[in-house]
Amino acid sequence: MEVVTRAQRMTLLSREARARGERIGFVPTMGALHDGHLSLVRRARQMSTLVVMSVFVNPTQFAPGEDFARYPRDLARDSDLAREAGTAILYAPEAREVYPAGFGTAVTVEGPDSVLEGASRPGHFRGVATVVAKLLNRVNPHVALFGQKDAQQAVIIRRMVRDLEMDVEIEICPTVRESDGLALSSRNVYLGPEERRAAPVLYRALRRAESAIVSEEERDPERILSLIRETVAAEPLVSLEYAAVVDGETLQPLERIRGGVLIPLAARLGATRLIDNILVKVEE
Ligand code: AMP
Repeated sequence: MEVVTRAQRMTLLSREARARGERIGFVPTMGALHDGHLSLVRRARQMSTLVVMSVFVNPTQFAPGEDFARYPRDLARDSDLAREAGTAILYAPEAREVYPAGFGTAVTVEGPDSVLEGASRPGHFRGVATVVAKLLNRVNPHVALFGQKDAQQAVIIRRMVRDLEMDVEIEICPTVRESDGLALSSRNVYLGPEERRAAPVLYRALRRAESAIVSEEERDPERILSLIRETVAAEPLVSLEYAAVVDGETLQPLERIRGGVLIPLAARLGATRLIDNILVKVEE
Protein backbone atom coordinates (compact mmCIF):
# COMPACT_ATOMS: atom_id res chain seq x y z
CA MET A 1 0.00 0.00 0.00
CA GLU A 2 1.27 3.45 -0.88
CA VAL A 3 0.46 6.40 1.37
CA VAL A 4 0.00 9.46 -0.83
CA THR A 5 -0.14 12.97 0.56
CA ARG A 6 0.33 15.03 -2.61
CA ALA A 7 -2.64 15.65 -4.89
CA GLN A 8 -0.53 15.49 -8.07
CA ARG A 9 0.81 12.07 -7.10
CA MET A 10 -2.75 10.84 -6.54
CA THR A 11 -3.74 11.98 -10.03
CA LEU A 12 -0.72 10.28 -11.57
CA LEU A 13 -1.43 6.96 -9.82
CA SER A 14 -5.07 7.09 -10.84
CA ARG A 15 -4.20 7.80 -14.49
CA GLU A 16 -1.67 4.98 -14.54
CA ALA A 17 -4.15 2.56 -12.97
CA ARG A 18 -6.81 3.44 -15.54
CA ALA A 19 -4.28 3.06 -18.37
CA ARG A 20 -3.49 -0.46 -17.07
CA GLY A 21 -7.21 -1.25 -17.23
CA GLU A 22 -7.78 -1.29 -13.48
CA ARG A 23 -11.21 -0.56 -12.05
CA ILE A 24 -10.81 1.89 -9.16
CA GLY A 25 -12.98 1.62 -6.04
CA PHE A 26 -12.86 4.58 -3.69
CA VAL A 27 -13.69 4.78 0.03
CA PRO A 28 -13.58 8.33 1.44
CA THR A 29 -13.20 8.56 5.24
CA MET A 30 -12.14 10.89 8.01
CA GLY A 31 -9.92 8.19 9.53
CA ALA A 32 -10.22 6.77 13.07
CA LEU A 33 -11.02 3.61 11.15
CA HIS A 34 -13.34 0.93 12.48
CA ASP A 35 -15.03 -2.09 10.99
CA GLY A 36 -17.72 0.08 9.34
CA HIS A 37 -15.03 1.74 7.20
CA LEU A 38 -13.33 -1.61 6.58
CA SER A 39 -16.61 -3.16 5.42
CA LEU A 40 -16.63 -0.51 2.67
CA VAL A 41 -13.10 -1.57 1.66
CA ARG A 42 -14.17 -5.21 1.54
CA ARG A 43 -17.14 -4.33 -0.67
CA ALA A 44 -14.86 -2.14 -2.81
CA ARG A 45 -12.58 -5.13 -3.38
CA GLN A 46 -15.53 -7.09 -4.74
CA MET A 47 -16.50 -4.25 -7.08
CA SER A 48 -13.08 -3.12 -8.32
CA THR A 49 -9.47 -4.21 -8.85
CA LEU A 50 -7.74 -1.35 -7.03
CA VAL A 51 -8.99 0.20 -3.79
CA VAL A 52 -8.18 3.79 -2.86
CA MET A 53 -9.10 5.07 0.59
CA SER A 54 -8.85 8.68 1.61
CA VAL A 55 -8.31 9.88 5.17
CA PHE A 56 -9.07 13.57 5.52
CA VAL A 57 -10.68 15.30 8.48
CA ASN A 58 -12.48 17.91 6.44
CA PRO A 59 -12.55 21.22 8.32
CA THR A 60 -15.38 22.72 6.25
CA GLN A 61 -17.97 20.17 7.38
CA PHE A 62 -17.52 21.07 11.06
CA ALA A 63 -19.29 24.12 12.45
CA PRO A 64 -17.51 26.34 14.98
CA GLY A 65 -17.81 24.67 18.38
CA GLU A 66 -18.06 21.14 16.93
CA ASP A 67 -15.39 18.47 17.50
CA PHE A 68 -12.96 19.27 14.63
CA ALA A 69 -10.00 19.96 16.92
CA ARG A 70 -10.49 16.85 19.06
CA TYR A 71 -11.64 14.48 16.28
CA PRO A 72 -9.51 11.31 16.72
CA ARG A 73 -6.49 11.26 14.37
CA ASP A 74 -3.98 8.39 14.08
CA LEU A 75 -2.64 7.93 10.57
CA ALA A 76 -0.19 5.15 11.55
CA ARG A 77 -3.02 3.02 12.97
CA ASP A 78 -5.32 3.87 10.04
CA SER A 79 -2.58 2.87 7.55
CA ASP A 80 -2.16 -0.54 9.19
CA LEU A 81 -5.91 -1.21 9.19
CA ALA A 82 -6.38 0.04 5.63
CA ARG A 83 -3.48 -2.11 4.37
CA GLU A 84 -4.71 -5.24 6.15
CA ALA A 85 -8.18 -4.75 4.65
CA GLY A 86 -6.72 -4.64 1.11
CA THR A 87 -6.38 -0.94 0.33
CA ALA A 88 -3.80 -0.28 -2.41
CA ILE A 89 -3.52 3.51 -2.05
CA LEU A 90 -4.18 5.59 1.05
CA TYR A 91 -4.68 9.22 0.09
CA ALA A 92 -4.17 11.53 3.09
CA PRO A 93 -3.85 15.07 1.78
CA GLU A 94 -3.06 18.09 3.91
CA ALA A 95 -5.76 20.71 4.43
CA ARG A 96 -3.64 23.43 2.88
CA GLU A 97 -3.45 21.48 -0.35
CA VAL A 98 -7.19 20.71 -0.40
CA TYR A 99 -8.07 24.31 0.48
CA PRO A 100 -5.25 26.55 -0.77
CA ALA A 101 -5.34 30.29 -0.24
CA GLY A 102 -8.05 31.80 -2.42
CA PHE A 103 -10.24 28.69 -2.46
CA GLY A 104 -13.80 29.89 -3.04
CA THR A 105 -16.04 27.26 -4.64
CA ALA A 106 -18.72 25.20 -2.90
CA VAL A 107 -21.24 22.55 -3.89
CA THR A 108 -24.71 23.02 -2.43
CA VAL A 109 -27.33 20.29 -2.91
CA GLU A 110 -30.41 22.36 -2.28
CA GLY A 111 -33.37 20.75 -0.57
CA PRO A 112 -32.05 17.63 1.14
CA ASP A 113 -29.19 19.62 2.70
CA SER A 114 -31.41 21.79 4.89
CA VAL A 115 -33.51 19.18 6.74
CA LEU A 116 -32.65 16.74 9.58
CA GLU A 117 -28.84 16.82 10.05
CA GLY A 118 -28.70 19.88 7.80
CA ALA A 119 -31.09 21.75 10.09
CA SER A 120 -29.07 20.79 13.18
CA ARG A 121 -25.70 21.42 11.53
CA PRO A 122 -25.99 24.35 9.08
CA GLY A 123 -23.31 24.24 6.37
CA HIS A 124 -22.38 20.64 7.17
CA PHE A 125 -23.56 19.13 3.88
CA ARG A 126 -22.10 21.97 1.86
CA GLY A 127 -18.73 21.00 3.35
CA VAL A 128 -19.37 17.30 2.70
CA ALA A 129 -20.56 17.73 -0.90
CA THR A 130 -17.67 20.06 -1.73
CA VAL A 131 -14.96 17.80 -0.36
CA VAL A 132 -16.49 14.66 -1.88
CA ALA A 133 -16.67 16.40 -5.29
CA LYS A 134 -13.01 17.39 -4.94
CA LEU A 135 -11.95 13.89 -3.86
CA LEU A 136 -13.91 12.29 -6.72
CA ASN A 137 -12.18 14.63 -9.18
CA ARG A 138 -8.79 13.86 -7.70
CA VAL A 139 -9.09 10.08 -7.34
CA ASN A 140 -11.30 9.65 -10.43
CA PRO A 141 -12.72 6.26 -9.35
CA HIS A 142 -15.14 4.03 -11.23
CA VAL A 143 -17.12 3.41 -8.05
CA ALA A 144 -17.26 5.26 -4.71
CA LEU A 145 -18.64 3.60 -1.59
CA PHE A 146 -20.46 5.17 1.35
CA GLY A 147 -22.24 3.83 4.45
CA GLN A 148 -25.98 3.76 5.09
CA LYS A 149 -25.03 4.92 8.62
CA ASP A 150 -24.94 8.44 7.14
CA ALA A 151 -28.21 8.08 5.24
CA GLN A 152 -28.69 11.76 4.45
CA GLN A 153 -25.12 12.05 3.22
CA ALA A 154 -25.79 9.11 0.87
CA VAL A 155 -28.90 10.84 -0.53
CA ILE A 156 -27.00 14.09 -1.03
CA ILE A 157 -24.03 12.49 -2.76
CA ARG A 158 -26.26 10.52 -5.11
CA ARG A 159 -28.08 13.74 -5.96
CA MET A 160 -24.84 15.66 -6.51
CA VAL A 161 -23.47 12.97 -8.81
CA ARG A 162 -26.69 12.97 -10.81
CA ASP A 163 -27.07 16.77 -10.95
CA LEU A 164 -23.43 17.41 -11.91
CA GLU A 165 -23.32 14.41 -14.31
CA MET A 166 -20.32 12.93 -12.56
CA ASP A 167 -19.17 9.71 -14.19
CA VAL A 168 -18.97 7.52 -11.10
CA GLU A 169 -21.09 4.75 -9.64
CA ILE A 170 -22.24 5.27 -6.04
CA GLU A 171 -22.61 2.20 -3.80
CA ILE A 172 -24.27 2.44 -0.39
CA CYS A 173 -23.29 -0.29 2.11
CA PRO A 174 -25.17 -1.52 5.21
CA THR A 175 -24.49 -0.09 8.67
CA VAL A 176 -22.07 -2.19 10.73
CA ARG A 177 -23.03 -2.47 14.42
CA GLU A 178 -21.60 -3.66 17.71
CA SER A 179 -23.19 -6.86 19.04
CA ASP A 180 -25.51 -4.76 21.23
CA GLY A 181 -26.74 -2.79 18.20
CA LEU A 182 -24.77 0.44 18.59
CA ALA A 183 -23.73 1.64 15.11
CA LEU A 184 -19.95 1.80 14.82
CA SER A 185 -18.77 5.41 14.73
CA SER A 186 -15.47 7.17 15.22
CA ARG A 187 -17.29 9.29 17.81
CA ASN A 188 -18.13 6.29 20.03
CA VAL A 189 -14.68 6.72 21.65
CA TYR A 190 -16.00 9.91 23.27
CA LEU A 191 -18.60 7.96 25.27
CA GLY A 192 -17.99 7.40 28.98
CA PRO A 193 -18.73 3.86 30.28
CA GLU A 194 -22.25 4.75 31.44
CA GLU A 195 -23.03 6.51 28.18
CA ARG A 196 -21.69 3.56 26.22
CA ARG A 197 -23.98 1.27 28.20
CA ALA A 198 -26.98 3.52 27.45
CA ALA A 199 -26.23 4.16 23.74
CA PRO A 200 -27.79 0.98 22.25
CA VAL A 201 -31.22 2.35 23.20
CA LEU A 202 -31.09 4.26 19.89
CA TYR A 203 -31.03 1.10 17.81
CA ARG A 204 -33.57 -0.55 20.12
CA ALA A 205 -35.92 2.37 19.43
CA LEU A 206 -35.38 2.04 15.68
CA ARG A 207 -35.98 -1.72 15.83
CA ARG A 208 -39.16 -1.16 17.79
CA ALA A 209 -40.35 1.25 15.10
CA GLU A 210 -39.39 -1.22 12.40
CA SER A 211 -41.27 -4.12 13.95
CA ALA A 212 -44.37 -1.97 14.46
CA ILE A 213 -44.24 -1.14 10.73
CA VAL A 214 -43.38 -4.61 9.48
CA SER A 215 -46.04 -6.34 11.58
CA GLU A 216 -48.48 -3.79 10.09
CA GLU A 217 -49.49 -2.73 13.56
CA GLU A 218 -48.72 0.86 12.74
CA ARG A 219 -49.07 3.03 9.63
CA ASP A 220 -49.19 6.45 11.30
CA PRO A 221 -45.79 8.23 11.31
CA GLU A 222 -46.72 10.24 14.42
CA ARG A 223 -47.36 7.09 16.42
CA ILE A 224 -44.09 5.57 15.16
CA LEU A 225 -42.31 8.68 16.41
CA SER A 226 -44.03 8.38 19.79
CA LEU A 227 -42.77 4.80 20.09
CA ILE A 228 -39.22 6.00 19.42
CA ARG A 229 -39.45 8.91 21.87
CA GLU A 230 -40.90 6.66 24.55
CA THR A 231 -38.14 4.06 24.13
CA VAL A 232 -35.31 6.62 24.21
CA ALA A 233 -36.87 8.47 27.18
CA ALA A 234 -36.32 5.35 29.29
CA GLU A 235 -32.55 6.11 29.22
CA PRO A 236 -32.00 9.34 31.14
CA LEU A 237 -28.44 9.69 29.78
CA VAL A 238 -29.74 9.88 26.21
CA SER A 239 -31.46 12.97 24.93
CA LEU A 240 -33.15 12.68 21.55
CA GLU A 241 -32.45 15.68 19.32
CA TYR A 242 -34.74 14.58 16.50
CA ALA A 243 -36.36 11.53 15.01
CA ALA A 244 -38.30 11.58 11.75
CA VAL A 245 -40.20 9.34 9.36
CA VAL A 246 -39.25 10.41 5.84
CA ASP A 247 -39.16 9.23 2.24
CA GLY A 248 -35.82 7.45 1.69
CA GLU A 249 -35.13 9.38 -1.52
CA THR A 250 -36.53 12.86 -0.98
CA LEU A 251 -36.13 13.02 2.84
CA GLN A 252 -39.55 14.67 2.98
CA PRO A 253 -41.81 13.73 5.93
CA LEU A 254 -44.28 10.95 5.13
CA GLU A 255 -47.92 11.28 5.94
CA ARG A 256 -48.45 7.58 5.46
CA ILE A 257 -45.97 4.75 5.85
CA ARG A 258 -45.26 3.42 2.35
CA GLY A 259 -42.41 2.76 -0.07
CA GLY A 260 -38.81 3.20 1.13
CA VAL A 261 -39.28 4.58 4.63
CA LEU A 262 -36.22 6.11 6.29
CA ILE A 263 -36.26 6.70 10.03
CA PRO A 264 -33.23 8.83 10.98
CA LEU A 265 -32.47 10.11 14.46
CA ALA A 266 -29.84 12.12 16.32
CA ALA A 267 -29.22 12.12 20.05
CA ARG A 268 -26.89 13.56 22.63
CA LEU A 269 -25.16 11.56 25.31
CA GLY A 270 -23.40 14.17 27.41
CA ALA A 271 -21.13 16.06 25.03
CA THR A 272 -21.33 13.38 22.32
CA ARG A 273 -23.75 13.54 19.43
CA LEU A 274 -24.67 10.27 17.71
CA ILE A 275 -26.81 9.56 14.64
CA ASP A 276 -28.43 6.36 13.43
CA ASN A 277 -31.21 5.32 11.09
CA ILE A 278 -33.14 2.40 9.72
CA LEU A 279 -34.56 1.92 6.24
CA VAL A 280 -37.78 -0.10 5.96
CA LYS A 281 -39.27 -1.22 2.66
CA VAL A 282 -43.05 -1.24 2.86
CA GLU A 283 -45.11 -2.99 0.17
CA GLU A 284 -47.89 -0.73 -1.12
P1 AMP B 1 -16.53 8.97 8.32
O1 AMP B 1 -15.09 8.61 8.52
O2 AMP B 1 -17.32 8.99 9.57
O3 AMP B 1 -16.69 10.20 7.46
O4 AMP B 1 -17.16 7.79 7.48
C1 AMP B 1 -16.60 7.39 6.24
C2 AMP B 1 -17.55 6.45 5.55
O5 AMP B 1 -17.77 5.31 6.37
C3 AMP B 1 -18.92 7.09 5.29
O6 AMP B 1 -19.39 6.67 4.02
C4 AMP B 1 -19.75 6.51 6.39
O7 AMP B 1 -21.13 6.44 6.07
C5 AMP B 1 -19.16 5.11 6.52
N1 AMP B 1 -19.46 4.56 7.83
C6 AMP B 1 -19.25 5.13 9.05
N2 AMP B 1 -19.70 4.33 10.04
C7 AMP B 1 -20.22 3.24 9.44
C8 AMP B 1 -20.85 2.04 9.92
N3 AMP B 1 -21.03 1.81 11.22
N4 AMP B 1 -21.25 1.13 9.01
C9 AMP B 1 -21.08 1.34 7.68
N5 AMP B 1 -20.48 2.43 7.17
C10 AMP B 1 -20.06 3.37 8.03
